[in-house]
Amino acid sequence: MPEPREGGLPTPVTPIRYLDDWRFEIVCEACQRRSYVRAVEVIRRVPQDAPLYRVLGRFRCHGGVPEYPCRGRPSRIVLAKVSGSGPTAQLRQDIELRPRRQGNAIEWERSR
Ligand SMILES: [Zn+2]
Repeated sequence: MPEPREGGLPTPVTPIRYLDDWRFEIVCEACQRRSYVRAVEVIRRVPQDAPLYRVLGRFRCHGGVPEYPCRGRPSRIVLAKVSGSGPTAQLRQDIELRPRRQGNAIEWERSR
């Protein structure tokens, strides 16, 4: 598998370890809750070579009350590359991915 070039945009097969300076904005299909997760936090918990699509397929919504968590799947994920953090963080690039169901499999398509 070719490695992403400098400044290249991630694709669904990009290994998660290359996305350490990206952030996920996740919108739940069930409750429309929006959450933000830094990729570095995800990278610590999954195999370093895991392709992006496999990681996205594991995201579940943490909304709702503790007794009845939503557990909805994402309807939309924006990947944003940011430099810095906090109020001075700057957005460098972003792409949006949407899932398309193929039976039990999910394909992630870029929508912008
Ligand atoms: Zn939800």
